[in-house]
Amino acid sequence: KNKGLMGSERIKLLRKEPFHSTPKLTLQNKYRKYLEQANIEKEFVIHYQPQIDLASGEIVGMEALLRWNQPTLGVISPTQFIPLAEETGHIHALSEWVLEQACRQNKQFQEDGYQELKVAVNISTVFLQNDHFIECVQRVLDQTQLDPRFLELELTESFFIQNVGEATDKLNQLRAMGVRVALDDFGKGYSSLHYLKHLSIDTLKIDREFVKELSQNRYDRYISTTIINLAHHLNMNVVAEGVETVEQLEFLKSKSCNGIQGYLFSRPVLAADFVKLLA
Ligand code: C2E
Ligand code: MG
Ligand code: MG
Ligand code: MG
Repeated sequence: KNKGLMGSERIKLLRKEPFHSTPKLTLQNKYRKYLEQANIEKEFVIHYQPQIDLASGEIVGMEALLRWNQPTLGVISPTQFIPLAEETGHIHALSEWVLEQACRQNKQFQEDGYQELKVAVNISTVFLQNDHFIECVQRVLDQTQLDPRFLELELTESFFIQNVGEATDKLNQLRAMGVRVALDDFGKGYSSLHYLKHLSIDTLKIDREFVKELSQNRYDRYISTTIINLAHHLNMNVVAEGVETVEQLEFLKSKSCNGIQGYLFSRPVLAADFVKLLA
């Protein structure tokens, strides 16, 4: 009944609530409760979104994107449950599962005779900081027999900000294993150029924020062009996410962006449907 109240009014009202009142089962608490009981194998599913090489027009990779199909609540977005899983610690088991599934799927595509693809897996900073992270990646590669050059881990800046020493160390270990590394959502956070200078990264992913209004907003065009040039000068691959229109595609192509991902080509789909795209 308090839904209509705005900011300060609402705060005043909340302050008046008696200390012993029963806490409302907020959406977050509900998710937390269901996450604790979740059966990973049964409730989680990975969708794959193709990555297109702009020079050849071919599918060269796929990004694994996790979905939670909660039996009572329905499909929950990763932007909702990943932060929660990080808080509760479920992120570790979940990440290990995604990594293994994605590598296994990629290996399966290769065995079925499709073109060689790179599979990109999003890695939470919390999971990266796990002492067993490197071990886990190695075990998954051993078990699935996927050649490490077909695995790309998408990391975000928060990892480098928290502990540059640890980040450099882990990055070097991944590189030594032959795994590729992408910096996701570039431009969205601090985007310190310091990291780009000191860390060996294969791919820079331009955040969707700059792609969304490419056709209408010249500042977004300047920024995207600058990120593409920066990546190329640093010998990195650059991929734009969230490409929805032909205009965006043409612009990125004209600036020699290496790859794109977006609804224009395909939404993230189940592996069974990804095969149709490959065919
Ligand atoms: P992200 O890694 O930046 O992934 C790109 C997001 O943009 C995905 O959202 C994708 O579905 C969406 N997208 C792709 N093309 C388009 C487009 O043309 N238009 C629009 N509007 N959206 C597009 P999604 O799947 O909801 O994932 C959101 C975020 O959740 C991801 O952002 C990633 O940070 C995180 N995430 C997803 N799966 C995992 C996972 O397995 N582990 C971890 N740690 N994080 C994950
Ligand atoms: Mg990503
Ligand atoms: Mg991204
Ligand atoms: Mg993003």
